[in-house]
Amino acid sequence: MCYRVLMRPAVFIDRDDTLNLNTDLPAQAWGAGRRGDLLNPAFVQLLPRALEACVRLRDAGFTLVVYTNQSGVAFGSGTLRDVDATNARLDELLTVDGERLIEAFYSSPFHPEGTCEPFNRAHDWRKPGPGMIVAAARELGIDLDHSWIVGDHARDREAGIAAGIAAQRALKIGPEEVHADLAEAAEHIIRAAEQARGRGAATTIVRLRAENAALLDEAAETVLSSGRAIAERTGVRVVNMEVRGGQVEAVLETHRLAALGFAGELRRAVNRWAAARFGRGIFAEAPGNNPNDNA
Ligand SMILES: [Mg+2]
Repeated sequence: MCYRVLMRPAVFIDRDDTLNLNTDLPAQAWGAGRRGDLLNPAFVQLLPRALEACVRLRDAGFTLVVYTNQSGVAFGSGTLRDVDATNARLDELLTVDGERLIEAFYSSPFHPEGTCEPFNRAHDWRKPGPGMIVAAARELGIDLDHSWIVGDHARDREAGIAAGIAAQRALKIGPEEVHADLAEAAEHIIRAAEQARGRGAATTIVRLRAENAALLDEAAETVLSSGRAIAERTGVRVVNMEVRGGQVEAVLETHRLAALGFAGELRRAVNRWAAARFGRGIFAEAPGNNPNDNA
């Protein structure tokens, strides 16, 4: 059993004219709807190198999230079901060897001047509002401090900045921009992440092996939330944390001494909680007591 990874960096990617063709589609693509409201899966067509860019970002460790304004729903160009079908087609085109590259799609159907209830209103999900990014960060455990934005409109950037992403991590692509397309933006993001890793704090892996794996599985959520709280309080950045195969493994962006302190504190906190709940601890009390415990 593997429990949720904690705090992953993401790249939030706009949909139309960033991943797939929109502006240059033939008029049939809009049907009876407004021009630009791509709500027909048959017209979903990836832009050159979009697939390659997503593969590279995924391989570099980023969670990929699509966030898209689809105000056509508020204007009656289509329905939420059409949005879902169109996103599903894009999802299918961005699947490699059975593995989906996009973790989640967030779509905003709202527009304050729309004509269709209940979408004809202002909403913070509508870019430049931060709503979709804030929701994704909460639902998917995204670390916004290490996340990026890529889109072809100013409002794509503005939504990210409003959500707390640093301005230099919010990239606008286009023929006049520094990065012409998603592939060039991906190149920049990957290089920046590599540089940060090179000059950043050392990464230390700590493992706590349970004396009883079944008990640890039962306690997994408590272990992760305790780890998150300890990291927040002590200023240790958690790159990844998993409960799997009878052990907790935490990848921490800090030096060894601070990592040992983190592991010791986590062990004590979880053992205290388990003693109250199960009448016994989960981890051996001191590192020396357990040969598999390198923390
Ligand atoms: Mg766009």
